[in-house]
Amino acid sequence: MPKKFIVVTGGVLSGIGKGIVAASISRLLNGYGLDVNVLKIDPYLNMDAGTMNPNQHGEVFVTDDGYEADLDLGHYERFTGKDMSRKNNLTAGQVYYSVISKERRGEYLGSTVQVVPHVTEEIKNRIKSMEGELLVIEIGGTVGDIEGEVFFEAVRELSMELGLDNFLFIHTTFVPYLGTTNEFKTKPTQQSVQLLRRIGIQPNMIVVRTEFPIDPSSLDKISLFTGVSRNMVINLYDTKNVYEIPEILKEYNVHSKIAKFLNIELSGNFDWDYPKVFRPIKIALVGKYLGTDDAYKSIIESIFLCGVEKPRVVDSELLEEDGNPEEFLKGFDGIIIPGGFGKRGIEGKIKAITYARERRIPILGICLGMQLMVIEYFRNIVGFKEANSTEFDPNTKYPVIDIMEEQKKVLNLGGTMRLGGQEMRIFPNTRLWKIYGELTEERERHRHRYEVNFDEFKEHFTIPNENSNENNDEKKLVVSAMSDFVEAIELNNHPFFVGVQFHPEYRSKVGNPHPVFAALVKAIEKKLR
Ligand code: GLN
Repeated sequence: MPKKFIVVTGGVLSGIGKGIVAASISRLLNGYGLDVNVLKIDPYLNMDAGTMNPNQHGEVFVTDDGYEADLDLGHYERFTGKDMSRKNNLTAGQVYYSVISKERRGEYLGSTVQVVPHVTEEIKNRIKSMEGELLVIEIGGTVGDIEGEVFFEAVRELSMELGLDNFLFIHTTFVPYLGTTNEFKTKPTQQSVQLLRRIGIQPNMIVVRTEFPIDPSSLDKISLFTGVSRNMVINLYDTKNVYEIPEILKEYNVHSKIAKFLNIELSGNFDWDYPKVFRPIKIALVGKYLGTDDAYKSIIESIFLCGVEKPRVVDSELLEEDGNPEEFLKGFDGIIIPGGFGKRGIEGKIKAITYARERRIPILGICLGMQLMVIEYFRNIVGFKEANSTEFDPNTKYPVIDIMEEQKKVLNLGGTMRLGGQEMRIFPNTRLWKIYGELTEERERHRHRYEVNFDEFKEHFTIPNENSNENNDEKKLVVSAMSDFVEAIELNNHPFFVGVQFHPEYRSKVGNPHPVFAALVKAIEKKLR
């Protein structure tokens, strides 16, 4: 059980970067020799994020142990460099499921099962079961949300139980700037701290988020009204590069402030190597989740971590209807076709693939993107015009992508895909093999139900001969990696035409973006030179 706890809560608005704050603090303290673990609490009733629409909630992040998590776990992994697991995310759905199952088993026999103490007990036990010396707990949503209440209560109780001096409460708020009167408005922050106090939590540190640097007198005011000492009120204004945050926190001496408050010792030196310059390479991400950039978070961050401008999302549905890839993709130096589900926008993505193949524009297909590259190859090179995935056309004459045998029997949609890490073999002398520094084995994460129908269509693929330097037939699609299914494909004679069934984006870390993205960027730069 952790000895010390940092609880990160949010007020005023959601989406102001609590996750980044939690991740940055974890990384900072880790840099000073502490064994830090992170727990994201999500007050929604879903068991996990797997069944949620990325347009509303952002991407689903997949851990190595096959858990479909909130995207904040992606921040934690990228910032801390450590792999997360299903234990790092607790949802209200999990808590209630467990309590109700216990009730049915008769474990509460005789008692009336209640939110307090039974549900809170369940939450406290999950928190206590975490590993690490210091646990950073991030409570999703904002204070005052009905569904979050029980978690605030559980954490409050736990702080009484384990000693208030072992708990540091950080409240992250947003302070708006009013242009008409030329001033920052601290009232919403004051009120959200009042909400916290009403629950019985007095914050010990306030992270004030603003669009640009705030004036010191506003911070004085926040300190006065919230009862948080002035040196524990910290301003974090918007930055284009979130990887600066740990360094900014260090400049503010947040690590020493936390250490002093929690009475812990720091050692070593925080050494943080993150990209600072971004080359103006234009990459199009042809997708259909346009509600928020968060829907493609890990891919976008993977490119950013290569020291390149963030890719721009291009609407695959519009491309499908309106047609001309020439117009849609003009000015882009490279293309990524991301993962996805369902038929919407598929033909737009295929148009983009044809365009990239013919115009020799570097292109990377991920999961669904790779499946569409295979379909495009069969339609336009092999000549099977009706080639498709049974996901989009169950009766297609050429089911080059087909549902896995085990998946045909699956009735529940939650958590039943092929999920998480799995080993694959990479074939020597392929581009992928070079990308991986000539490794022949690697473990990658997955999230899919459909795969290349290799058995039925194998004659149209090339599998490189392990003993020769040539990839046999120049025109055929090369299978560059396999597990019990096709993991990756590529085309020879193209600057970069690579498709992967797995999700490289989930393994990028600060200072160490996944090599597949680094290779895409390199291929683009080579072409531009
Ligand atoms: N819809 C496809 C499948 O289920 C691709 C999934 C994905 O891109 N993550 O196989």
